[in-house]
Amino acid sequence: MDQVATTPKDLAGAVLSIDLGAVQKNWRTLNAHAGAAECGAAVKGNAYGLGVEPVGRALWEAGCRSFFVARPKEGEELRGQLPEAVIYVLDGLFPGQAEFYAQNNLLPALISTEEAREWAAFGRVYGRKLPCAIHVDTGINRLGFPIREYTALLAETATMEGLNVSLLMSHLACAEEASHPLTLKQRDTFREVRGLLPGVPASLANSSGIFLGKDYAHDLVRPGIAIYGGNPTPALPNPMQAVALLEGTILQTRTVRAGETVGYGATWQATRETRIAVLGAGYKDGVPRALSSGNTDTPPQVFLEGHRCPIIGRISMDMMAIDVTALPHAVSRGETAEILGPHILIDEAAGWAGTISYELLTRLGSRYARLYSELDSGPAA
Ligand SMILES: *Cc1c(COP(=O)(O)O)cnc(C)c1O
Repeated sequence: MDQVATTPKDLAGAVLSIDLGAVQKNWRTLNAHAGAAECGAAVKGNAYGLGVEPVGRALWEAGCRSFFVARPKEGEELRGQLPEAVIYVLDGLFPGQAEFYAQNNLLPALISTEEAREWAAFGRVYGRKLPCAIHVDTGINRLGFPIREYTALLAETATMEGLNVSLLMSHLACAEEASHPLTLKQRDTFREVRGLLPGVPASLANSSGIFLGKDYAHDLVRPGIAIYGGNPTPALPNPMQAVALLEGTILQTRTVRAGETVGYGATWQATRETRIAVLGAGYKDGVPRALSSGNTDTPPQVFLEGHRCPIIGRISMDMMAIDVTALPHAVSRGETAEILGPHILIDEAAGWAGTISYELLTRLGSRYARLYSELDSGPAA
């Protein structure tokens, strides 16, 4: 037999292809929706699991200039790729780490008076007022200054004089629901909050927030999941393109007779002769075990040769079984099935697994071959 060159794809069993052109298209779509507001990008959690370095570069090339990470360590990683980007750290200022932020030119999104004082004091020692964001909590009750603490900070002249506030931000709790009372309350509260700090750019909207209209856009929007293909408007068709394509390779096919079961726990039983294929992708690869299915009319599915095939039985660590009986012709070893991608959207698969697209993406494992496509050659924003 001829020797054929082996690629990582041939050895990994499951393949994750990341479409950087789709990342760029999605960002441009969001940028257009944001109107006059600047469009940034949330790239925390290793760009939602898809790789902060290639994704960060793709976004920069598309025209994105402001980035949001969660941790200072993530900021350092992104800084290595993007020397000129504005990088905010959403988890705030970690105790005693101001120097690390300064060295990497990271802007903490300050969440408390304690952090504000520490950043201002560091700036004095450093000899320069360093930029930062102030994150005000307008109702999610997660991170940020409570309103009263924020107004007290504004009155704390010594601290405020030590800060170079480049952004005032808050975060929506129910951005997918335009008419949720909390969404409306946060919209109004944020307007008042920003009124108290005139001249400072403001930011409220995440992906879904961008689609809530101009009252929410302010000066800078911070989309995350929509850049990665998640639907920011759950009640409507997804305007974004799929970014991640997760494929499992067929390891074996077999015929199961009526009455026989498939997989651990024998949770699925054939009601007729069934042709099955076993894919080399399992929960170690980030396929949620919750995609396991017993005998149900609405099983989770994968996409193979233009057809949707039900997932049957339990997802195991390294493999999963699918029903290929309905396919017009036989499938064979080495063929691949789409587990996530343009046909099996991340929101749909997350729904089957009882989770959300965010968790599905950020839990994708590290064992498969990761392939990054070329950048989109379209015009920069
Ligand atoms: C994660 C995050 C975002 C992005 O949210 P998406 O829903 O993914 O668009 C924006 N702002 C803050 C503060 C976040 O934590």
